[in-house]
Amino acid sequence: MIDSTARSRVRRAVEERSSLDGMRRSFRTIRTRQKENAARIPDLEQRKERLRSLKEASVGDERLFMQAVSTLRENGFRVIIAKTAEAAVKQIEHELKGYDIVVKSKSNVTKEIHLAAHLESKNVKVIETDLGDRIIQLAGCAAAHPTGPACHLTRKEISVLFAKHFGHEVSEDPMELTEIMREEIASYLGKAKVGITGANAVTAQEGAVVIVHNEGNAAKCAMLPDKHIVITTPEKVVPTLDDAVNVTKLQTYLSTGKIISSYLNVITGPSYTSDIEKQLYRGMHGPKEVVIVFVDDGRLYAADKEAQYCIGCGMCLLHCPTYDILGPVFGTSGHMGGQGVYLAGSTGKLEEAIDAGLYLCTSCGACKEVCPSKIDTRRGVISARNAAIKAKKPELEEHHQLLASVRNYENPWQVPRKQKGKWADGLGLLAKGEVLYFAGCSTSLLFPELAKSATRLIRACGVEPAYLGQAERCCGSTVRKLGHEDLAKGKAEACFKDFENAGARLVVTSCPGCSSALNYFAELSKKKGIKIQHISQFLHEHLDRSLLSPIEGLGIATYHDPCDLGREQEVYDEPRELLSAVARSVEMSRSRASSDCCGSGSGVRSAFPELSSAIAEERIAAAKAVDAEVLVTACPWCVQSLRECQQGKNEVQVLDLVELLDRSVSAGVGRVPPARHRAGTRMRSLTVE
Ligand code: SF4
Ligand code: SF4
Repeated sequence: MIDSTARSRVRRAVEERSSLDGMRRSFRTIRTRQKENAARIPDLEQRKERLRSLKEASVGDERLFMQAVSTLRENGFRVIIAKTAEAAVKQIEHELKGYDIVVKSKSNVTKEIHLAAHLESKNVKVIETDLGDRIIQLAGCAAAHPTGPACHLTRKEISVLFAKHFGHEVSEDPMELTEIMREEIASYLGKAKVGITGANAVTAQEGAVVIVHNEGNAAKCAMLPDKHIVITTPEKVVPTLDDAVNVTKLQTYLSTGKIISSYLNVITGPSYTSDIEKQLYRGMHGPKEVVIVFVDDGRLYAADKEAQYCIGCGMCLLHCPTYDILGPVFGTSGHMGGQGVYLAGSTGKLEEAIDAGLYLCTSCGACKEVCPSKIDTRRGVISARNAAIKAKKPELEEHHQLLASVRNYENPWQVPRKQKGKWADGLGLLAKGEVLYFAGCSTSLLFPELAKSATRLIRACGVEPAYLGQAERCCGSTVRKLGHEDLAKGKAEACFKDFENAGARLVVTSCPGCSSALNYFAELSKKKGIKIQHISQFLHEHLDRSLLSPIEGLGIATYHDPCDLGREQEVYDEPRELLSAVARSVEMSRSRASSDCCGSGSGVRSAFPELSSAIAEERIAAAKAVDAEVLVTACPWCVQSLRECQQGKNEVQVLDLVELLDRSVSAGVGRVPPARHRAGTRMRSLTVE
């Protein structure tokens, strides 16, 4: 169970989120620079596709890995393969016997295995040579971005830090701050006999280590000392140097917005000369000895290797709603954000995954959209939750209650089941029919008026919907996202059985969580010949537009894409087209596939309400930024989250699309055709592909 320390860490991070303003500014700078330079990398999408194919083929390919080991050895590298983090740390400690100082450049895996802390405990002084990493080292805090580790700290904070370190006042001028640390790092680079670097890629064909950097420090760590130790992981192995160049090009552009970094070093072994009588002399201008340590730690034999496709570009962090609020509280020490959680979970380190925020991910899927390797972190985090359940790791108390409620009451809201159908009292809905309305737990219990609006609209389409009443079950959406795949599948199976018994061919839901959960088990839908649609899809297909007219006095509206409807089911146009018939609308800066989340998904709202509200507040701010007065969405969870975060202030009115459409149709009620039972009618929607 997440302990009270971890909980208070989250609460404190939410309260102090303005301390991450610097990080957010840096992220905006990266995005701006990416836009400015986009035309200079016209083949970006092809490069990403090539990366994904490359990673699919090479990550976990033992033959490729062993080819790399062999070519590296041929080139004079000493290769060490460490099965575990502990073994890696021990081997590196052994390599450093007799040395008391080591200079080091950026490397995520060294953070992952807590190398610096271990070496310091053995009296080996570790000097980070990347300015950002050195700042982080002195501050004793976690990095906020893979290539801009100190981007969350202000010049003032850095000045105070340096003043303490150097024992005298230091100006806040970034140039002077850089200069004073440059001099100190240079003095260490001059005296250290061992340098440690990471690797952005290792090429199997050539036996080369490829390192990309801007400061020039990594080259100095690799070249100046007598011994160079490269610390990396097996998934960094790619077939050829061409592939490595693609990795570095994408990594540079996506992490900084530049199209090429200042330095791209290709190292193929120790420095040597044989210019005098062909006698081989090692260490002419560079190191005599180059050692490469591959830290496996559960990677090569992980059943799910997708988390290892990461190239450390940090794009996911720029778009993650949780990371935006919490920063490095979300993630592991070597790998920030959801990908860190996923990597820890998929390599068997479940305690680490829990501690890194296994239950802080809203499952919004925004990270996958921007990831060059198309890593499905949402799926990976859910799998890690599933693994944690199977390993009998305790769950959060709030989630425990939610699960009990789903099991006992068929809803996550701890409300007796008989309440569910109350909204339909007196509406005369049929118990059976080809088109069945599935209100869902949240609509039924939190927004019963929405359910009534939905049925009125379905009737306005000339269809008399059937409804299961209090027999309607939970679709299993939330429990699946919490990792309870079997329970979710059981719920979906029971739902489909109910649909079948009611004679349904088409099920229309008000909640995208329901339609996505029921569509997730596509085989059930296919087997039963029952199609599931979100109400926006149904209305888009069947609602006569002449019934809709602009709603007077509504103000400018903007549409918020629910993650379960947009990214999960790719329903973007239908709600927008319907909205445009009743309101003047504008788009927020992030919409459609790059939409931000409302913060309520995946059990985050129940377990971390302050985090959920903070995320929702950002969405309200985005609506205000485009002068929208009404924020329209198509999901009861989003409506709840976006309304409640405003704590009654209602600076932006939050409405469900169904509510708006019903208002429009009802306003012109004379135009509504009489409802007629269409149970036997063949509708386009009834076809299950
Ligand atoms: S799914 Fe959303 S919340 Fe989870 S890691 Fe990705 S962007 Fe962050
Ligand atoms: S998960 Fe994807 S987007 Fe995030 S750092 Fe890794 S490669 Fe970049």
